Amino acid sequence: MPDRAPQPVDRQLPTEEARDLITLVRDIVQREIAPRAAEEEEAGHFPREVFSLLSDSGLLGLPYDSEFGGGDQPYEVYLQVLEELAAARLTVGLGVSVHSLACHALAGYGTKEQQGEHLPAMLGGGLLGAYCLSEPASGSDAASLRTKAVRDGDDWVITGTKAWITHGGVADFYTVLARTGLEGPRGITAFLVPGDAHGLNAAVPEKKMGMKGSPTAQLHLDGVRIPDSRRLGEEGQGFAIALSALDSGRLGIAACAVGVAQAALDEAVEYATGRKQFGRPIADFQGLRFMLADMATRIEAGRALYLSAARLRDAGRPFSQQAAMAKLFCTDAAMSVTTDAVQVLGGYGYTQDFPVERFMREAKVLQIVEGTNQIQRMVIARHLAGPETR
Ligand SMILES: Cc1cc2nc3c(=O)[nH]c(=O)nc-3n(C[C@H](O)[C@H](O)[C@H](O)COP(=O)(O)OP(=O)(O)OC[C@H]3O[C@@H](n4cnc5c(N)ncnc54)[C@H](O)[C@@H]3O)c2cc1C
Repeated sequence: MPDRAPQPVDRQLPTEEARDLITLVRDIVQREIAPRAAEEEEAGHFPREVFSLLSDSGLLGLPYDSEFGGGDQPYEVYLQVLEELAAARLTVGLGVSVHSLACHALAGYGTKEQQGEHLPAMLGGGLLGAYCLSEPASGSDAASLRTKAVRDGDDWVITGTKAWITHGGVADFYTVLARTGLEGPRGITAFLVPGDAHGLNAAVPEKKMGMKGSPTAQLHLDGVRIPDSRRLGEEGQGFAIALSALDSGRLGIAACAVGVAQAALDEAVEYATGRKQFGRPIADFQGLRFMLADMATRIEAGRALYLSAARLRDAGRPFSQQAAMAKLFCTDAAMSVTTDAVQVLGGYGYTQDFPVERFMREAKVLQIVEGTNQIQRMVIARHLAGPETR
C-alpha cells in the first residue's frame, strides 16, 4: 500500500495566520514527508533535509519570540502543527518537539547577549538541537545525574555520558544538564554545547522498536571545554530549567500522540468501510463500529486536553499538572487506538503492507519519553496531595 497523507482534521484555530500555517504544513507533509515515511522508517533513514526545509519555512521556532527569529505563535497553534507532522511521520513531529525543548533553556533563561548570538540560527537558521538530561544510570530519577562540569578559569570542562539522546550524533547543538555542585537537584547547571565541540562523540544509535529514522544515541563528553558564556541560567538552576522545559515538552509529546492516533483511526475507517466479510463491509458490524467510535472519542478527548493545557500556558497561567495529564492521557490513548487499529485490519494490520503496525510501535515510545507515564501520575498526584512524605 502506498503512503498517503492523513485525512485533514477540522481544526479550531485562533487566527487567519494560524490557518495559513496549517495549510503550509499540510502541503509540506503531502509533498515531502508522507510519500517517503514508511520506506525511510524501515531503512532507518534520518530525514535531515526535511528539518532543513522546516527551518527554512519558519517551522522550527514557532512558539518562540520573533525578536530572535521565532514565529510568535501561541502554543495551541504550535502543538497542532506538531500533531499534523507526527500524523505523517513521528520521527519528524517528535524531532521538532525535541528541537523546541532544546531551545527552551536559552530562550527562557539565557541573557539577551546569549540569545542574540545563538537563537536566530537555532530558531530559523537551519540548526537542529538535542536535549541531554538522561544518563545510563539516571532516567526517571534525573536529579541523580552524574555528568560533571568543572570550572577552569573562564571555561567549564564537561565529562560524562548522556543516554537516549534524540538527534544524538546529528544535532548541531546540545542543551546539556551537568553537575556543578553537590548531590541532588540544586547541584545541576545547564550548558549549550556546540555539536562540533572537541571531546564530544555520539555512540552508534540504539536499535529501536519504532521511530527507526530518528537517531537515539548515547553521547560521550570527554573533557569538553566550553566558555562560561555558554552556561544557561545560574549555577545550580539547571534542574529547574530542565523541568520547566519538560512541562512544555510534554505537551509536544501529547500532540504527537494524538497525531499518531488520528493517522491510525483514518486507516482503520478506510479499511473497515472497504473490506467485506459475510457479504457486508466490516464497518457494518456493531463490534467494529463501537471500536471505531471509542477510538475517535479518545482522540477528541486527548486533543481537547492538550489544547486546554496549551491555552493555560498561552494565558501565562500554571499548566504543569495539566501538561502531565495531557501527556499521560494522550499517549495512553495513542497506544490503545493504534492497537485497536491493528485489530480492525485483522491479519493485514499485522503486516508492513499497511502503516498501522508502525503506528502501534511508534505509540509505545510516547508512553516512555519525557517522563514515563508512571512519572506523570507522580507529578499529577503531587499537585493534588503534595510531595510524598518519604
Ligand atoms: C526513543 C527515546 C528517545 C529519548 N530521547 C531522549 C532525549 O532526547 N533526551 C533525554 O534526556 N532523554 C531521552 N530519552 C530518555 C527517556 O526520557 C527515559 O527513557 C525515561 O525518562 C525513562 O528513564 P529510563 O529509561 O532510565 O527508565 P527508568 O527510570 O529506569 O524506569 C524503568 C521503569 O520504572 C518505572 N519507575 C521508575 N521510577 C518510578 C517511580 N518512582 N514510581 C513508579 N515507577 C517508576 C518507570 O516508569 C519505568 O516503567 C529517550 C528515550 C527513548 C526510548
